[in-house]
Amino acid sequence: MCGSVVLGEAFRGGCVLDRCTRCGHLARDLRRCPADHRDLAYGGEPTLDRIRLDLTHRELVRDGLPARVLEIGYGSGALLRRFLDDGAEVSGVDPDQLLVDVDPVVRARGDLRVGGIEDASALPGEQDLVYGVHVLEHVENPHRALAVSHDLLRAGGRVSFLTPAGDSTALDRYGAAWWMLEDPTHVRFFTADSLARAAEAAGFVDIEVRRLLLDSLSVDAASVARALRPRPRPHGVLGSRAVVAAAVASLPLVLAQRLVRPRTRPTLQLLARRPGW
Ligand SMILES: [Zn+2]
Repeated sequence: MCGSVVLGEAFRGGCVLDRCTRCGHLARDLRRCPADHRDLAYGGEPTLDRIRLDLTHRELVRDGLPARVLEIGYGSGALLRRFLDDGAEVSGVDPDQLLVDVDPVVRARGDLRVGGIEDASALPGEQDLVYGVHVLEHVENPHRALAVSHDLLRAGGRVSFLTPAGDSTALDRYGAAWWMLEDPTHVRFFTADSLARAAEAAGFVDIEVRRLLLDSLSVDAASVARALRPRPRPHGVLGSRAVVAAAVASLPLVLAQRLVRPRTRPTLQLLARRPGW
């Protein structure tokens, strides 16, 4: 991300990631850090997803309700639907739009485009808020994605991106069993430093990187399950009711730990603003 020297770093369980010696950014080559557990890029669980949606929406409207919103990687459109219900004008871009069922209200009233954010020249601009929830870890060219996001904002508009924390304690603790590695389309993991550097390079100001207390609540239980019983799971480890139950049961412990040790929080949130007003 910052152009410095990159060295391979081996984690327990046989996974090697390339880590930048300056900003700590991690790049993943599937040949050296395979996923080999899941068919689908998306391995969510409906109840957990709904809770996550509520929490994410709350994070995104923390600084007030935006009038114009664009989501990168809108998936089923569930978050855009929240913004629509709030009275916002919504738009989005997603490479896989035809593969999932998009909320019919969002489909009817939103400006939805198919494609990657990297080639987004025709997207609607002058946005108050551009956001992406767990998308930056999937993109091949995050510099381009951030630069496009910047250009889609009005002067003073803001971005919010959630992405797994490559500088959390999880990689040392779980190694190859870390749940974030179950998804084969996760090709990079930001650190707070590499995320801030990337935002700065894209022209943003008022850059803040937070570690979210309440995102990805099931990551520890899922990682432990993967560590204890490594085996192929075509539907993902969260396809198991026992693992979901363990995630719920361990929640108080997980939250207590996240409060005391912020580095155990698995998600980074980038908040930044396009200069001017
Ligand atoms: Zn770097």
